[in-house]
Amino acid sequence: MRKPTRPREQGRGERVLPGVWRLRLPLDLPGVPHVNAWALQASGGLVLVDTGMHDRGTMGHLEQALERIGHRVSDIQLIVITHAHIDHCGQAPPLAKRAGCEVWMHPNWKLHAHDDLDKTIEIALLSGVPAQPLERWAEARRGMGSGQAGTLYSDKDLVPGVTFETDAGTWNVVETLGHAPSHVCLHQPEQRVLLSGDHLMGRVSQYFDVGYTPDPVGEFLDSLTVIERLDARLALAGHARPFTDVQAHIDANRREVEARVSATRAALADGPKSAYEAARAVYGEAFNAAMASWLITLTRAWLVHLQQLGEVLNDGGDPVEHWELAS
Ligand SMILES: [Zn+2]
Ligand SMILES: [Zn+2]
Repeated sequence: MRKPTRPREQGRGERVLPGVWRLRLPLDLPGVPHVNAWALQASGGLVLVDTGMHDRGTMGHLEQALERIGHRVSDIQLIVITHAHIDHCGQAPPLAKRAGCEVWMHPNWKLHAHDDLDKTIEIALLSGVPAQPLERWAEARRGMGSGQAGTLYSDKDLVPGVTFETDAGTWNVVETLGHAPSHVCLHQPEQRVLLSGDHLMGRVSQYFDVGYTPDPVGEFLDSLTVIERLDARLALAGHARPFTDVQAHIDANRREVEARVSATRAALADGPKSAYEAARAVYGEAFNAAMASWLITLTRAWLVHLQQLGEVLNDGGDPVEHWELAS
């Protein structure tokens, strides 16, 4: 007798513009059901932007999505990565090997591509996460794969000035640090299309890698100004349907930053707090076991931003860091 199986979603491919396809790949992350890779036709072959995460069955999803648009892995002539998060770069090494093509990525990928569980636990302890939930979380994480196939590498630095050709036109690299220190957007000026990765998401769902650059939130705000000047009419984001109201998304992101930074300031009004305590105050009921890691990292980003603005001090505490308003 066959065991009942949960119907698993498959990789899909859909045309967005002539020569531009969205490859929608299922993801197994809390609150993030899909990641997009983008296939750009280029003289008979493809440039692939992002690859999806590596997990059981994920290469099959990508192959299936490619098949839906009439292509295969061997058609890929170049792999371009928007940023070195596993849901975007996780399958790059084996794909590049099979296709015999290069991988291009921003040089800052080296800063954060090799983070391990020990480092995450160290930061969690510094943030004041209680030992019990931290142990449970670490145990669950140990049971998961890394999301990265093979060893990540880049053949060429993806920095401003670098371009690549496709049938839809030439794409420029726009450096957009903030979400990750290795983040770039890709811009096609004639068609006014922006491949926005996780810099501009379809919904306002922010995240910042903390600890690699001085002020990820400040860098993110600067990067919003950079893409605003491009005046794109279509954004192709990492985890959403293509959207045209690009300016509205930029404005919504600015408002979200402002609201969270204010809430963080308010959370410190009654005295010093650890990042864990501040996160509970800022996010209230949204702070639960599944979201804690994400929300503590976000809160650290707001705190670091306020520190850079001179509004908040960090006691450099050992073992738990506390943050307080500068008087
Ligand atoms: Zn990301
Ligand atoms: Zn992502």
